[in-house]
Amino acid sequence: MTAIAEGLTLEESAVAELSAGLRGHVVGRDDSDYDEARKIWNGSIDRRPALIARCAGVADVIAAVKFARAHGLPTTVRSGGHSFPGLSVADDAFVIDLGPMKGVRVDPDKRTARVQAGVLLGELDKEAQAFGLAAPSGIVTHTGVAGLTLGGGIGWIQRKHGLSIDKLRRVDVVTADGEFVKASADENPELFWGMRGAGSNFGIVTEFEFEVVPVGPTILAGPIFWKMEDSPDVLRFWREWSADAPDDLMSIVLHRKAPPLPFVPEELHGEPVVTVIPCWIGDLDEGERFIKPLREFGDVAADVCTRKPYLMHQSMFDPSFVPHRWYYFRGFDAPELSDEMIDITVDYALKIKSPLTSFPIWQMGGAISHRSDDDSAFGGRNAGITYNIGCCTDNAEGFEEERQWVRDFYAALESWQTGVYVNFMSDGEESQARIQAAYGPEKAERLKTLKRRWDPDNFFRNNQNISPD
Ligand SMILES: Cc1cc2nc3c(=O)[nH]c(=O)nc-3n(C[C@H](O)[C@H](O)[C@H](O)COP(=O)(O)OP(=O)(O)OC[C@H]3O[C@@H](n4cnc5c(N)ncnc54)[C@H](O)[C@@H]3O)c2cc1C
Repeated sequence: MTAIAEGLTLEESAVAELSAGLRGHVVGRDDSDYDEARKIWNGSIDRRPALIARCAGVADVIAAVKFARAHGLPTTVRSGGHSFPGLSVADDAFVIDLGPMKGVRVDPDKRTARVQAGVLLGELDKEAQAFGLAAPSGIVTHTGVAGLTLGGGIGWIQRKHGLSIDKLRRVDVVTADGEFVKASADENPELFWGMRGAGSNFGIVTEFEFEVVPVGPTILAGPIFWKMEDSPDVLRFWREWSADAPDDLMSIVLHRKAPPLPFVPEELHGEPVVTVIPCWIGDLDEGERFIKPLREFGDVAADVCTRKPYLMHQSMFDPSFVPHRWYYFRGFDAPELSDEMIDITVDYALKIKSPLTSFPIWQMGGAISHRSDDDSAFGGRNAGITYNIGCCTDNAEGFEEERQWVRDFYAALESWQTGVYVNFMSDGEESQARIQAAYGPEKAERLKTLKRRWDPDNFFRNNQNISPD
């Protein structure tokens, strides 16, 4: 027997057998690539799994699930490693890592993209944009397609084309028993319903098939800056201006100390600012006309909203969410931005200490809300806005204080929340009741029934968990 982690022993031959059977490879604590393989995006999370199975394909995923079940190993599933609370890695656990599964095939005639689970958003965008196409995804290119899609997937083209799950046509799944099944509108439709919003609970998705839609390649997008002291007026203006916006427009409001990035005018570097970032993906002249009143509102400190390639806009936030810094988030949905919420938001924004902290307020609605709430497990179709209150520091220094700021800010706004996007939730402090609230009582019950059908032992439990009990 060999000890592979605290309180966890396996026969040496078992690990060797798993290793020999994989196209990928197994990483243990003594291997030179262990520290690299266990690292995730959020640097504040430092966990030491027992073994990591780096899977090269579906056969590896099946073998890894069967191995974990045979040996009773607590297991996590990892694709992009971007879960805010680090759900894809746990101390002394067996990690099934799909990161190496990088296949993407776009069919420009059928307008579909087949995407393996290890693909990151920017990788999918590049392949699809080669044909002027895109799948709805998120706003930072190094996020995993898998975790993002299985929770819903919100991003710059959501108001025109919906969530990532709204363009999902099929998934290939390895179940908790290590069986391979497909789910789509025609095959295992109930599983497909649950996969779209609560997907990490029912199996491991090895491949996604999306419908891809024409986008760009040139769009009209980028930040417009005001001094943060102008935020009460800017937020009120944004609220009215965006209320009747066509679905071609999506926008995000961000408060932060302006970063020293090339597209940010030097005189603003380090200054507290509020920015509205419009992203218009329709006719560009029409977009210019629609955005004009925003550009002309108040004392604009800088305006870098311009015609540019969609791919360039997709990576705009990458320098603000660099891997391995320390992060903490609390998110929630609300129907609209009230005057009281604006006052609280500005009050807290002015208290930001870290030069790396920023928090987006997302404009929701549009195509997301045009679908019936029953269409998928996702629970936020009626949200008017989504807050993602987050903080960031370079390392442990100053992190506690910044995290407390997030918690206080969140608590001050708590009474306005009507739901939460599961991918913007934290762990530990967020109770099972909050996960239920993310789906609402009827869907939560339906998901529980589905969980009992596909994973009665709760093998997939390192996620925003639907308990079978
Ligand atoms: C920098 C950054 C930017 C973000 N921007 C957006 C955004 O614009 N829009 C948005 O909607 N969200 C966004 N998010 C949130 C993001 O959707 C979630 O963090 C998501 O879980 C990341 O997926 P992942 O595959 O990278 O994560 P992982 O940490 O690998 O996995 C996250 C969860 O999904 C499960 N999982 C992973 N792969 C699979 C699989 N193949 N099959 C079944 N379960 C699996 C894991 O077990 C875990 O519970 C962002 C996150 C970060 C860190």
